[in-house]
Amino acid sequence: MTKVDVLIVGAGFAGIKAACELKAAGRTVKVLEARDRVGGRSMPGEIAGNTIDLGGQWVGPDQRLLMAEAAQQDVETYAQYTTGQSVLEMKGTRKSYRGDVPKLPFLSLLELSRLEKRWNREMDTLPEQAPWTAALAQQWDSQTLESWIGDNLWTEGAKDFARIVARAVVCAEPSQLSYLYFLEYLRSGHGMEKLIGVEGGAQQDKFRGGAWSIVKSMADTLGDDIVLEAPVRSLTQSETGVSVDTDKGRFESDYVIVAIPPALAGRIFYNAPMPASRDALTQRMPMGSVIKLHVAYETPFWRKKGLSGAATSDKRAFNVVFDQTPEDENCGILVGFIDANHAVEATKRGANARRAEAIEDLMAYFGPEAGQPIDFVEQNWTQEEWSRGCYVGHMAPGVMTTYGEALRATCGRVHWAGTETATEWLGYLDGALQSGIRAAQEVQQRLG
Ligand SMILES: Cc1cc2nc3c(=O)[nH]c(=O)nc-3n(C[C@H](O)[C@H](O)[C@H](O)COP(=O)(O)OP(=O)(O)OC[C@H]3O[C@@H](n4cnc5c(N)ncnc54)[C@H](O)[C@@H]3O)c2cc1C
Repeated sequence: MTKVDVLIVGAGFAGIKAACELKAAGRTVKVLEARDRVGGRSMPGEIAGNTIDLGGQWVGPDQRLLMAEAAQQDVETYAQYTTGQSVLEMKGTRKSYRGDVPKLPFLSLLELSRLEKRWNREMDTLPEQAPWTAALAQQWDSQTLESWIGDNLWTEGAKDFARIVARAVVCAEPSQLSYLYFLEYLRSGHGMEKLIGVEGGAQQDKFRGGAWSIVKSMADTLGDDIVLEAPVRSLTQSETGVSVDTDKGRFESDYVIVAIPPALAGRIFYNAPMPASRDALTQRMPMGSVIKLHVAYETPFWRKKGLSGAATSDKRAFNVVFDQTPEDENCGILVGFIDANHAVEATKRGANARRAEAIEDLMAYFGPEAGQPIDFVEQNWTQEEWSRGCYVGHMAPGVMTTYGEALRATCGRVHWAGTETATEWLGYLDGALQSGIRAAQEVQQRLG
């Protein structure tokens, strides 16, 4: 049996950051990780001989914690390719446009610009630490984003665009999201423009060697303090400490930081039981659904056609696509997502059908050359036992106002981290780092 000051459940960005902070402060730690690798929702892969990110990858200029961590680990960034026109397919019609704002009918564009201002106004009324206490929180939390769209938007273009935004950033249908939760997601990500934007937004840059190399480098400094293939099955608290049972044996500590999504935290057996609000929260924060696809070609042929490689659609399953070509252009790569209900349905159809459909979608966006890939890699996050979906756990109506305060509230000797608990860049790598730092500070104070 091993005894340390702090046990950390989960070796994602949040857990690893918490461990690094505590170790730097002279505390003894052990990180208990279910998988045979670190990184969690950040994961490395390879296509046509190039390293890729199968999970989180982009970083924006406002994500200061992530930028600072990358710099500390000597991981450089490079810009997302944006030269040329983007493709938008809506109601079966394909259009191309420049910049982040799609070419829509005039009235739809007018409504979209008003929508953004309204969302900015409303999200700014949410208190950062407790959005559930906002003046209109109850009203906003008693409707879905879809019912809000139905009641408040008039043009088909603005309605479809709002739905695309929700699917792309949360990987859930607007009918599955509380309007209050959606506003909180917008607030924590500095608004819609930053969330969906490339230049100045959350998709501005990528990491040389992949985002995973950041967490890998952080983890290397922890060495034997990380125990892989050690899923935590049960957690027992007493007046003097905590003991945790894993597939690699029992570990003991003064405090525990659980740095995993609520949907996974709810699978741990707690002795004594968690408070009602915490237990209820873990039953009510499902993960989104997403499949990330990479498709490689001999060359980035779309660039020669004046296209940026970015594409979006209201109907197609492969509905958000970006250029992922390596800097030396040794081949052309497109990356994109099948998200929300599309991912659930596509999972039923099997890998071969998904591949054929994805190629068909790319041909519709970029032309017949897209029908000749040289390599194809998919990562289906809905099938990951230790993620249970991605990018993030979300909330339906009624959850945030009733159970939101249980997100970060300490339960005895147990503290909570993970991107779901972040107040800035919730759902992102940056939010995961913020949560790890916060949880480490909480425990530090208690250790004295
Ligand atoms: C396809 C995809 C694309 C994304 N794109 C971006 C992006 O471009 N930019 C961005 O900033 N973010 C992006 N994200 C989100 C980002 O990856 C996550 O926000 C972040 O990785 C979450 O980190 P975390 O440490 O909070 O959780 P996790 O990474 O989920 O870490 C939790 C860890 O706990 C482990 N675990 C779970 N249960 C147990 C248990 N019982 N016992 C022990 N260990 C356990 C898991 O295996 C995992 O390693 C993306 C995610 C995905 C999947």
